[in-house]
Amino acid sequence: MSFDLVLFGGTGDLAWRKLMPALFQAFRHGTLPKEGRIIGVARDDLGDEQYRALIRERFAQVDDAKQPSPQEFEQFAQLLHFVRMDLSKPEDFRRLKETLESRGADVVVMYLAVGPSLFTQACEQIGAAGLNRPNVRLVLEKPLGHDLASNRAINEAVRRVFAEKQIFRIDHYLGKPSVQNLFALRFGNSLFEPLWRRETIANIQITIAEDLGVEKRGAFYDTTGALRDMVQNHALQLLCALGMEPPINAHADAIRDEKLKVLRSLKAWTPTDLAQHVVRGQYAAGVVNGEQVPGYREEPGVDPQSNTETFVALRAEIANWRWAGVPFYIRTGKRMAARNACIVVNFRPAPHAIFNAPPGAANKLVINLQPRDGLQLHLLAQGQENRRNTQALAPAHLDLDFDKRFGSERVGAYERLLLDVIDGRLNLFVRSDEQEEAWRWVEPILEYWANDDNGPRPYAAGTWGPSASSAMIARDGYSWPEEL
Ligand code: NAP
Repeated sequence: MSFDLVLFGGTGDLAWRKLMPALFQAFRHGTLPKEGRIIGVARDDLGDEQYRALIRERFAQVDDAKQPSPQEFEQFAQLLHFVRMDLSKPEDFRRLKETLESRGADVVVMYLAVGPSLFTQACEQIGAAGLNRPNVRLVLEKPLGHDLASNRAINEAVRRVFAEKQIFRIDHYLGKPSVQNLFALRFGNSLFEPLWRRETIANIQITIAEDLGVEKRGAFYDTTGALRDMVQNHALQLLCALGMEPPINAHADAIRDEKLKVLRSLKAWTPTDLAQHVVRGQYAAGVVNGEQVPGYREEPGVDPQSNTETFVALRAEIANWRWAGVPFYIRTGKRMAARNACIVVNFRPAPHAIFNAPPGAANKLVINLQPRDGLQLHLLAQGQENRRNTQALAPAHLDLDFDKRFGSERVGAYERLLLDVIDGRLNLFVRSDEQEEAWRWVEPILEYWANDDNGPRPYAAGTWGPSASSAMIARDGYSWPEEL
C-alpha cells in the first residue's frame, strides 16, 4: 500500500519532537508501509534536502534510543519531502494538489500539526481544492476548541469537508500501551468483569502529574489551564475506558458508543458539588527535583495577575447501575512532586476479617501510564516477616510486567496512532459527539470559576497540590495513593 502523509506544521515542535521520532520508529520496526512519502508543509522556503537536514539536526535532541544511526537516517530521509505553503493562502493549495496528484497514493493522510486557529481555514481550502477525496484521512490534534461552542464550530467546519469516518481526533493517552492493556484486561479476560462494579470497587483514582512547569508555552497555557488541557480530554478518556460497558465488538463505533454512554451518565454538577468536589490550584515558587523554580505568575508569557489553574482535583460519579455511588477522582497538575500518571482501582476490603490485615489494607489494581507502563495487582498474602503470628497478612504484588513479557521495544503512543491512521483504524480516536459531551460536562466548572473571585489555591511547586485536594477525598474516607 502506498501513502502520502502531509504534515502541515512540518517544521513545528510537535512534528519534530513527537511525530518524526514516531514515524522513524515505525520505519525502523518495519511497520511503516514501504511505499510512503512524508511531506512537511510550512511557510519556510525549503527544498527537500534542506528539510531533511533540518529534521536530521532535530533528531539530535530526541531520546538516544529513538535516534537513527547515519545509515538509518539516510534511508528514512528518502521518505521526506517539503512543500512550502501558507495555509491562509488559497492559491498555495494548488502546489500541494500537484504534489499529491503527481503520485496518486492509495492513502493520503493530512495531519494538522498547526495552531487551531488554522483548522477551519485549512479544511475549507482542502475542500475547495478538491483534496478531500474518499482516500484522504484528516488528523486533528488538541486543543479542539476552547469550550463547547468553539468545539462544535470546528467539528461542523471539518464535517462540511470530510465524513466522520475520515476524521481522526488524537488523544495520545489512548495510544499508550497500558491503556490498550486496560481494554485487553477488561474485555479479553473474564476474570475482572464480575468484580468491575459498585459492589466490589470502592473508588477509582486517576492521577496525571507533571513535574515540569509551563516551559516556553506560558502564553498558550495561560488561556487554557489544566481543566481544558488535561481533564476535558485525557482524564475523561481514561475515565471512559474504566467505566464503559463491554462493547458488542471491537469496531470503532461499538467502542465509541460505549464511551459516549459513560460521558452522558456523568452526574450533572450542582452548585454544592462545584464548591465541594472541585479544587483548582496554581503553583507558587518551590523546589522541584532539588532545583528552585519560579511560581506560575512569574513564568514568561503568563499574566502576573493570572487566575489560570495549573492543578485540578475533582470527584466525578457515573450515574448508572454499575457505578452508582462509586467516586471517580481525577487529579492533574504541573510542577508536582513527580512526573507520574497512573490509575488506582481500590477494591472494597474483605467483608469479614479473620486475619490481621494492616489497617485500611484492601486489594487494588494499579495501572501505570508514565514514566513506565504496566499493571500491578496488590493482594494480601501470608508474609514470612512475622513467624509467630500466622494470622498476620502482608501486602504483596502480582506484577504484570509487559516489558518482560513482550520486550521493551513496544510500540509508543504516537507510533501506534500514526500507523492506525495510515491503516484506517479509528478505534483509538475520539468521535465528535464524545468530545462535545466532554465539553458539556466541564463547562459548568469553567462558568463557576469565572464567577468565583477566590481564584485558584496556591501550592508550592514540588508538592502534590493544594491541601484542599486531600481534604476533598478525605471527606469520603479515602486518600490519594502514597507511594507515587
Ligand atoms: P509550533 O512549534 O508553533 O509549530 C507550528 C507549525 O505550523 C510550524 O511548522 C509553522 O511553520 C507552521 N505554520 C504556522 N502558521 C502557518 C501557516 N499560516 N501556513 C503554514 N504553516 C504554518 O506549534 P506546535 O507546538 O508544533 O503545535 C502544533 C499544534 O499541535 C498546536 O495546535 C498545538 O496545540 C498542538 N499540540 C502540540 C503539542 C506539542 O507537544 N508541541 C502537543 C499536543 C498538541 P512556519 O511558521 O514556518 O510556517
